[in-house]
Amino acid sequence: MRLMFYREVNNTRIELVKGDITLQEDVEAIVNAANAELMPGGGVAGAIHRAAGPELADECRNLAPIAPGEAVITEGYKLPNSFVIHCLGPVYGVDKPEEELLANCYRRAIQLARENKIKSIAFPAISTGVFGYPKLEAAKVAFKAVLDELALSKEINLIRFVLFEERDLDIFQKVFED
Ligand code: ADP
Repeated sequence: MRLMFYREVNNTRIELVKGDITLQEDVEAIVNAANAELMPGGGVAGAIHRAAGPELADECRNLAPIAPGEAVITEGYKLPNSFVIHCLGPVYGVDKPEEELLANCYRRAIQLARENKIKSIAFPAISTGVFGYPKLEAAKVAFKAVLDELALSKEINLIRFVLFEERDLDIFQKVFED
């Protein structure tokens, strides 16, 4: 994992790193870019379920399906994290209004963290894989949603965005520096 950028906002450290969401050992909760059924699949969801083991899918079965913009929380099982917060991002061009639905994911995830006394969370770039959300637009929505939600309380200490590809890191960094 490589720390690329950080800033402090209302008592919370916001970090951007290049890395793998399943290897964030120092955060209490990681966020899954889930599918509606909360099942393994590809990308982030596949990696998280592989690392957590089959018990994660067992717990998820009782919570599915979820709608775009919604989030649910489970245990982390074999992951180094106590919790997984599963968010369903919008499919770009299909689930509308996509900006609002994507923002809801980030905000609901932070709200769930707060309700569960979680102080550190790592997010992947939700909806920017198979769901096709353009990265620059997604970065703008993500950052604004996080700032809006953090303005409401000081309880979260750390929010980390984990970008898988160098190019995505550059895009997020440009948005975050503005
Ligand atoms: P979605 O279905 O919400 O688009 P994906 O899992 O397809 O979710 O992809 C979301 C983003 O996460 C993409 O930018 C992809 O490059 C990135 N990604 C894929 N695997 C990982 C991983 N193991 N850790 C962090 N990010 C990942």
